[in-house]
Amino acid sequence: MAATAPPAHARVVIIGGGIVGCSVAYHLTKLGWRDVVLLERRELSCGTTWHAAGLVGQLRSSHNLTRLARYGAVLYERLEAETGQATGFRRCGSISVARTAERLIELKRGASMARCFGVEVEPISPAEAGKLWPLMRTDDLAGAVWIPGDGRTNPIDTTLALARGARRGGATIVENATVTGITRRNGAAVGVETDRGDVTAEVVVNCAGMWGREVGRLAGVNVPLHAAEHFYIVTEPLAGVTRELPVLRDTDGYIYVREEVGGLLMGGFEPAAKPWGMDGFPRDFAFSLLPEDWEHFRVLMEQACVRIPVLETAPVRRHVNGPESFTPDNRYMLGEAPELRNFFVAAGFNSVGIASAAGAGQALAEWIVGGQPSMDLWDVDIRRFMPFQGGAAYLRERTREVVGLLYAMHWPFRQPETARGVRRSVLHDRLAGRGAVFGVVAGWERANWFATAGVEPRYVYTYGRPSWFPCAAAEHRAVREAVGIFDQSSLAKLLVQGPDAAAALQRLCANDVDVAPGRIVYTQMLNARGGIECDLTVTRLADDAYLVVTIAASATHDADWIRRGLDGARVSLTDVTSAYTVLGVMGPRSRDLLARLTSADLSNAAFPFGTTREMDLSAAMVRATRITYVGELGWELYVPTDFAMGVYEELVAAGESFGLRHAGYHAMDSLRLEKGYRSWGHDIGADDTPLEAGLGFAVAFKKEFVGREALLRQRDKPLARRLASFTLEDRRALLFGDEPIWRDDVLVGRITSGAYGHTLGRSVGLGYVSHPDGVDATFLSSGRWELELATERFAATARLEPPYDAAATRVRA
Ligand SMILES: Cc1cc2nc3c(=O)[nH]c(=O)nc-3n(C[C@H](O)[C@H](O)[C@H](O)COP(=O)(O)OP(=O)(O)OC[C@H]3O[C@@H](n4cnc5c(N)ncnc54)[C@H](O)[C@@H]3O)c2cc1C
Repeated sequence: MAATAPPAHARVVIIGGGIVGCSVAYHLTKLGWRDVVLLERRELSCGTTWHAAGLVGQLRSSHNLTRLARYGAVLYERLEAETGQATGFRRCGSISVARTAERLIELKRGASMARCFGVEVEPISPAEAGKLWPLMRTDDLAGAVWIPGDGRTNPIDTTLALARGARRGGATIVENATVTGITRRNGAAVGVETDRGDVTAEVVVNCAGMWGREVGRLAGVNVPLHAAEHFYIVTEPLAGVTRELPVLRDTDGYIYVREEVGGLLMGGFEPAAKPWGMDGFPRDFAFSLLPEDWEHFRVLMEQACVRIPVLETAPVRRHVNGPESFTPDNRYMLGEAPELRNFFVAAGFNSVGIASAAGAGQALAEWIVGGQPSMDLWDVDIRRFMPFQGGAAYLRERTREVVGLLYAMHWPFRQPETARGVRRSVLHDRLAGRGAVFGVVAGWERANWFATAGVEPRYVYTYGRPSWFPCAAAEHRAVREAVGIFDQSSLAKLLVQGPDAAAALQRLCANDVDVAPGRIVYTQMLNARGGIECDLTVTRLADDAYLVVTIAASATHDADWIRRGLDGARVSLTDVTSAYTVLGVMGPRSRDLLARLTSADLSNAAFPFGTTREMDLSAAMVRATRITYVGELGWELYVPTDFAMGVYEELVAAGESFGLRHAGYHAMDSLRLEKGYRSWGHDIGADDTPLEAGLGFAVAFKKEFVGREALLRQRDKPLARRLASFTLEDRRALLFGDEPIWRDDVLVGRITSGAYGHTLGRSVGLGYVSHPDGVDATFLSSGRWELELATERFAATARLEPPYDAAATRVRA
């Protein structure tokens, strides 16, 4: 192809001509942006795309991601008619089989979830699976599910079809042009340097696949991904293999299989993967493969022969070992980088880039053109990552594990095993000494539960009652009846200071934060649609200083949201997370315990709910804030980290006579759900307004704030969608989240988070309910309510108010 030089200017420059870059270009032109330039260092699809297996699955872990994946099948089906370039897409359906009873529960839970997301999934018997896939052994299977809408496509042809559509829409595609630098000005990307001249641009998009981390570094942007070797084989044609054969997934055997030119293509996700290329990729790596590794492939081959005995003797035509990029949590990265304005990323596709490219490209194009995402994309938002996660050692270690996690059991509460111990509270070892079993969030090791005598201090995963059930129950009871101590140091703490701090935060927060120093305000920050971008507490420390506290998982996201919102104001934002250890002292006896150690007056009159003050605690000065996430009297203590150990020791020693117990995040979840407290990223997010979420009490309509107009429009009408509390009648059934909600046999919603409520003695959850005529207390108290657990329905009670202490008397005790 004749080497065209890149133009000197474009509205948007896309780096990378794989399926993702081409999809972004295609969708930008669909939205009317014609001045789009895509730069590819070699030729279109030459990176990872060309050798993909082309599976196009629809079901993903969340509603919006499933929406995007479903769009892939629709687009690839119609692209040929639109562009004249065939994609090779075929809706052959897919079968997932279960070798064990627990895997079958997982598949059935997926089938239930799919119902909420509008994907047709049908549980089928092993015999029925055998009819659809005659070469498969089925006598050892526990069951299967059938997804008729799934398909497969030809990755190269699909990429070329997207590229052709983009060109027709006005885009310029330049091959053999390598981006060597990102031009930046005033904290924004303003163009790229290439080996064939510079291009100025308003927007730069990093779609460089496994090169994405390197390209990110050119821009000073953290793109945590790592390549790993990924394998499949293709056999010679086999009798009984037809083009109509569905895709087969036997995840207990780590494998997927589909038809390929009359033979079988078999690949998989082995439990211990081979990270590759951390020291850089060969310069001329294009349409290239890595060396065969039959020894490494053996684990997949052996399992495949168990499922499809004919593979034992089938002649292998091709062994493919191609690199693909993986992220620390197995989800791709999308969005504008928090470090650099106008620099967008779509990379790290964890082996589902073909299936995801259409939806990801569309969503990113909407984000670029609209200035914000058109829907809640938190699951894949690049701002979920922390700077340390871009580190080479961390990524290499985690990548060994994440590849296999794609097909491993998705156990409730499953924790990663690699790259652990990265961020620890100063109390970590003390808590470990008391039997703490840790989970990890944003790198933080957090005590999830404390093993009691006779319970092994480690996770034994199950869909049933876990080994830690009685431990969490005891912790829960201590908080309800006496006092518990939580290490909440992972909370992100942001200091917002300056003469404009109050005015700027008033505009960003839905609640009134222009309060007297010493007050703490629970508030949301909203997008223009009224959706909840941040859910946090804002404490006024002084006329010109606030402490903003949010959950660990959204630290980067919330800091970015606030920083953008402060634009131009005389305000600084400083992350002081590491400066403070946070101890939650929660429960009816918390006042008595703290009173033993402080000279401060902790009475209701002197220290009411929603206030904060510095006070002595033993020999230290701490900030005590009267707030709770568990629904009891309690204080969060912000202790300078160097004083934390001493304060902790004093509390534990004095706590003995008050029944103090160490408590972890599993107990906290159970406590907060009984009280109906929402969790951002689960119960509330960018698609949910405070009115729908039952947080209208935290909206100060009397002042201006971002999102107010949208809320005003919603306020005057009956709410067609509302968050409600649910409890199950069956005391043994367990809620984990994502269960469908039925009312009088009509699917009306989905549980967003659930746990066992140890005070209620049954499972409790929160979930959105929709009805076109409006959802109110009468609607919830009438009708027959059921929640669907792994395709089985269980009777439930629905209500707007929390099932525990709805009047909040205990919090204000
Ligand atoms: C063996 C295998 C099987 C797979 N099977 C499936 C499957 O069945 N289904 C599925 O959905 N996914 C599958 N995948 C994953 C899928 O192939 C990828 O997720 C997808 O191709 C990623 O596309 P991309 O555009 O992000 O990356 P790429 O295709 O790698 O594109 C990135 C492009 O950026 C270019 N580039 C890099 N740096 C620069 C620079 N500085 N300047 C200009 N250009 C640059 C590269 O040359 C490259 O062409 C599979 C992957 C492998 C390895």
